[in-house]
Amino acid sequence: MTRYDFSGKVAVVTGGASGIGEACARLLAEAGAKVVIADYDADLGEKVAAGIGSEGAVSFTAVDVSQPDQMERAVAKAVDDYGGLHLAVNNAGIGGPQGPTGEYPLDGWQKVIDINLSGVFYGLRYEIPAMLDSGGGSIVNMASILGSVGFAQSVAYVAAKHGVVGMTKSAALEYSNQGIRVNSIGPGFIKTPLIEESLDDEATKVVTSLHPIGRLGTSEEVASLVAFLCSDDASFCTGGYYVVDGAYTAQ
Ligand code: NAD
Repeated sequence: MTRYDFSGKVAVVTGGASGIGEACARLLAEAGAKVVIADYDADLGEKVAAGIGSEGAVSFTAVDVSQPDQMERAVAKAVDDYGGLHLAVNNAGIGGPQGPTGEYPLDGWQKVIDINLSGVFYGLRYEIPAMLDSGGGSIVNMASILGSVGFAQSVAYVAAKHGVVGMTKSAALEYSNQGIRVNSIGPGFIKTPLIEESLDDEATKVVTSLHPIGRLGTSEEVASLVAFLCSDDASFCTGGYYVVDGAYTAQ
């Protein structure tokens, strides 16, 4: 049960087939929004969309967020299917390779920047006009704690996430007086397939110990913050960067 009421709202959630995005799509749908899950994993995306919400309330569209024409089509689908766009969660992202900056793979750099940074820009680029046509809305960009602090061996991810925080601020300045709020959020390490696939047990222990709260976060804890920022309860929140990190960045 959720305290929010998004009935009459239409949402796009990129990367909504798994982990944090899936939890966001689920919570927005539970609160009454029509949700388009935009993800490049079609098998998973179709399955997740079918498993969430009532008949017809959640749909899936295959998209690679690093391709602007595909992102444009995903936004157009939301507008065509459900009549507008009011909420967007630009969440799709990858971890990318790990390695010291002086040896970092060039193709890995490009891929992370294309998906985690340009992908968020393409989201904003097409969501904002659709939201202006729909009377305004709220956008949440998925940064990370690594949008405000560094992390060794992860130069591309850290650069992309810092960039997401910056582009969020610029977009908020441009559109806050036109009824669109834009915020970014900074989750600490969250138990999702992204983390489970990239960290072994030992690394998970080390990463857990970096969170003063003594555990990793859950996708639902991140989705709660996203829902708040999407809601009218957050009507004065725009241009912000909000952490949900078990005090990781408080140290
Ligand atoms: P995840 O791997 O569980 O989910 C990511 C989803 O994005 C997947 O469904 C994947 O198919 C999709 N995706 C990846 N590349 C895509 C592309 N080019 N186009 C469309 N879809 C694409 O990961 P997650 O942990 O839920 O991460 C979601 C977001 O949260 C990412 O942006 C990640 O950087 C961020 N984040 C995660 C953590 C964490 O610890 N898990 C912490 C901070 C921030």
